[in-house]
Amino acid sequence: MSTLQAVKQDELEVTQQYIDEVFETVMRRNPHEQEFHQAVKEIFDSLVPFLAKHPVYRKNNVLERMIEPERMLTFSVPWMDDEGNVKVNRGYRVQFNSALGPYKGGLRFHPSVSASIIKFLGFEQIFKNSLTGQPIGGGKGGADFDPKGKSDAEIMRFTQSFMTELSKHIGPDTDVPAGDIGVGAREIGYMFGQYKKLRGANEAGVLTGKGLDYGGSLARKEATGYGAVYFVEEMLKDQGLTFEDKTVVVSGSGNVSIYAMEKAQELGAIVVACSDSSGYIYDEKGIDLEIVKSLKEEQSKRISEYLNERPEAEFYEGGHGIWTVPCEIALPCATQNELDETSADVLISNGVIAVGEGANMPSTLEAIEVFLKNGVLFGPAKAVNAGGVAVSALEMAQNSGRLSWSFEEVDDKLKEIMKDIYKTSMEASEKYGYSGNLVVGANIAGFKKVADAMIAQGVI
Ligand code: NDP
Repeated sequence: MSTLQAVKQDELEVTQQYIDEVFETVMRRNPHEQEFHQAVKEIFDSLVPFLAKHPVYRKNNVLERMIEPERMLTFSVPWMDDEGNVKVNRGYRVQFNSALGPYKGGLRFHPSVSASIIKFLGFEQIFKNSLTGQPIGGGKGGADFDPKGKSDAEIMRFTQSFMTELSKHIGPDTDVPAGDIGVGAREIGYMFGQYKKLRGANEAGVLTGKGLDYGGSLARKEATGYGAVYFVEEMLKDQGLTFEDKTVVVSGSGNVSIYAMEKAQELGAIVVACSDSSGYIYDEKGIDLEIVKSLKEEQSKRISEYLNERPEAEFYEGGHGIWTVPCEIALPCATQNELDETSADVLISNGVIAVGEGANMPSTLEAIEVFLKNGVLFGPAKAVNAGGVAVSALEMAQNSGRLSWSFEEVDDKLKEIMKDIYKTSMEASEKYGYSGNLVVGANIAGFKKVADAMIAQGVI
């Protein structure tokens, strides 16, 4: 008899009713925050069998406590553009849950950033960080600032103003931000410089994703993309499959996408398409990654310019089009809700075997449902893309010990962590009667550790 069968049907129904009530509270307290609602719903739906089996969590009101950020900061970020005009953006930092360690999570600079986006990312981060096995709590932040088209001097002035306020709330033992969309090594460098100046101390562990010359970790840049591919490799291995000769489509062409493509190619896959917010490129013979790296990492150019070097490739405008490209493995690595139900149907009719979410919440709830119903191997974001934050935690460990590990050392640790996350998530899915469902498995495994730590630390 499975654990699920051991839980009586009426207990499941009562638990479902309880979860629905808590979800109502989330909607009431956070009106119009659709992305946050979506992230909470995905987790809540997974927890029914677990909470029904273990009443201790309900007794301690763990769910109610977890959905309320410990602290939510919003602040103004005034700055001056190159023409002398004064501008102002809104900055955010959510310090969601510190049960497992200092708040940890990236900063996103993108015009779409809102309280809802930051809260969905921060909420997801709690469970993701728990899955890594590292001692880190969940947080996230950013600003509705658009770095596109800004000069280097403007980026510096903006990031310095952002850090002037943020510095009052972070520190190596309290809250450790990193990069995300629109925040890479350059922005982290400017923010680190400003933090150091304000504090009058060199606290290397306050930010991760730093440059290698001043406390950064080797393999951090590659970690999220490589980690995503290591995770999908495990999913495939369980079915007797590998990346070798598989056709792969990767959305985006930023940090996560580039290194997911690199590792997939190293493992013998043929990556035929990638994208940016203007559209996607299709290169039947396989994407030449050096061209993409040069366009995106060095020149900040649009992906369509790939065709200048490879005229035989094709460019198509538009956001969702990339999912019409036939592939066996799809890796959405751009942004939230980029893959909807219709795209999921198209991927399935084109023969997709596995989907691994490199971005945060790239698939809508309906798309996930379609993948699971059709037996597609599906790796959810909080498990698949946890490699980035895992290596950030390794960067913090190196900073504390004033050490510098080799690329191979960090990469080996990353590989082990990703294997472990896969194993833990699979085991949890089996234990609670959803064998092979990694959405349920990752959510339960991530939740349990945080919930136990919260109970152990009392009501504070
Ligand atoms: P980057 O800014 O480096 O790249 C983002 C890529 O996605 C760009 O190609 C961008 O195109 C594209 N993109 C962004 N918004 C949209 C949109 N609305 N429609 C279509 N394409 C879009 O970010 P990252 O690679 O760092 O992050 C990508 C995803 O991975 C995010 O969801 C992030 O939260 C997640 N993630 C990142 C981690 C990391 O370590 N960096 C860790 C874990 C998760 P364009 O340049 O045209 O805007």
